[in-house]
Amino acid sequence: MNIGEFEFIERIKAGFNLPEGMTGIGDDCAVIPQASGLDTIVTTDLLVEGVHFLMEDASPEDIGWKSAAVNLSDIAAMGGKPVATFLSVAIPGSVDESWMARFIEGYKQLSDIFKVPLAGGDTTSSKGGLSICVTVLGQLPSGKAKLRSSAVAGDQICVTGFLGDSAAGLKAILEGSEKTTDMETLVRRHYRPLPRIAEGQMLLSSSGVHALMDISDGIASDLKHILEASGVGAVIDTDSLPISPELSRVAAEKGWDAYRLAACGGEDYELLFTKDPAASLPLDYTVVGKITKIPGLIWKGSDTTDYKGFTHF
Ligand code: ADP
Ligand code: MG
Repeated sequence: MNIGEFEFIERIKAGFNLPEGMTGIGDDCAVIPQASGLDTIVTTDLLVEGVHFLMEDASPEDIGWKSAAVNLSDIAAMGGKPVATFLSVAIPGSVDESWMARFIEGYKQLSDIFKVPLAGGDTTSSKGGLSICVTVLGQLPSGKAKLRSSAVAGDQICVTGFLGDSAAGLKAILEGSEKTTDMETLVRRHYRPLPRIAEGQMLLSSSGVHALMDISDGIASDLKHILEASGVGAVIDTDSLPISPELSRVAAEKGWDAYRLAACGGEDYELLFTKDPAASLPLDYTVVGKITKIPGLIWKGSDTTDYKGFTHF
């Protein structure tokens, strides 16, 4: 960057508004007022060039958007409300200020959707690639966080939205597939996931919702975290996995296995939760299986051959 660290921070500061009463960028610490009866929840993620993203594939705006989105998704996964984010960057000489300005623009686009201010961070140079660390503070009513350890035998296993779109989008990018409208939708779902903040809060306030998490590595992998934490097992019906119309069409055309992408593909950032079968909820979701007493994950459905590897812990 040709501009110095302080000019860079000034430009970031100018782009974000802080809510009344909060002190953000410019002092030694951010100051965030607390209210009694609320718990603070904190999550942080480190994204490293070449490991989590490739500069040549994604636009700076997409990388900025996704850096914020994956962290807000962890807040959604507890049923929380995001309060403020912190952004630390290690910037190599090869990245200039216009790249960083576009990165911040994408970060801001996502932050603005959920009205979350950027309240601080750190900026250094890097002798390696670009590293991005995002921390998010959120809040929820004291003691009410939805943990992975709360699943109960007999629960239904449910997901929001569609699964597999992001993995299909990534496959399209890597294979250099032609850009049909459907393909562009899938690629966008990969680069611009929308964290399920409102849905997480609805699940938090619905009785009968037990375990809750977000799907970042694919349901086949992520569900195991709930099973292990809760000491239970599960049966999943692959035929019931929610497949978007776009993924159905692309999979049929390309000969891709949509169900395998939905089960094993990552980065959908949908919510995975378990609930009492009698509970009715004020949001759209799909029931994909049930929690059992016997440990282990069993896949059933018309074609489970590809998922068998996932039955072993
Ligand atoms: P200190 O020396 O106290 O760590 P810095 O010079 O690193 O202060 O940062 C000055 C202010 O700018 C702090 O409020 C810090 O939170 C903020 N800041 C620094 N880098 C970033 C960034 N990448 N994004 C948002 N705020 C930042
Ligand atoms: Mg600092």
